[in-house]
Amino acid sequence: MTTKIAIIDDHQLFREGVKRILEFEKSFQVIAEGDDGGDAVKIVNAYDPDVVIMDINMPHVNGIEATRELVEKFPETKIIILSIHDDENYVTHALQTGAKGYLLKEMDADALIDAVRVVADGGCYLHPKVTHNLVNEYRKLTAGRSGGGTMVQTIEIRRPLHLLTRRECEVLQMLADGKSNRGIGEALFISEKTVKNHVSNILQKMNVNDRTQAVVVAIKNGWVEVR
Ligand SMILES: [Mg+2]
Repeated sequence: MTTKIAIIDDHQLFREGVKRILEFEKSFQVIAEGDDGGDAVKIVNAYDPDVVIMDINMPHVNGIEATRELVEKFPETKIIILSIHDDENYVTHALQTGAKGYLLKEMDADALIDAVRVVADGGCYLHPKVTHNLVNEYRKLTAGRSGGGTMVQTIEIRRPLHLLTRRECEVLQMLADGKSNRGIGEALFISEKTVKNHVSNILQKMNVNDRTQAVVVAIKNGWVEVR
């Protein structure tokens, strides 16, 4: 099955680059392009893409406003933000409007293809750096909740050894730390392919669709350190 993709970004060269990367993947087809958030509704109406890749900074209507409008009018269309901004403010806004992915323009081509695949399949995909910022934000939000005033909250980490191997626990912790597959591989002296295998085993054992969900579940259960 073909995944139909639209790219909305105000820089033509950038759109060209993204298009070329995506079309390496046989099952992807870039069917439309736009250079402003103001064209988003028109494009989705005319071409009915499965996935829209959306910049944030554009001259007339920004990508967050455009995402909000698209989610309202076309709830089936999945939107991935692809921006240079990694601060929580942008990320939180984008996710609140209903974007299913948040990527950074500094990412590599393989990860972009992965992200589109995950989102097209109904999952969420955040750039590792973005995950890390969100985890920090979560920590700030929950720090005051124990009612301990200025007391520092100590959380006991219970590694999920009933479910995962020791190595998988390490990888899970690194996902929460916001490391990419390459970063995890370098830290553990294993290949990126081995990291990918660990990640897919973790997702399967935890019964979640994507690495973002895995991190959320792990934090909720106190399986990882939020640092
Ligand atoms: Mg731009």
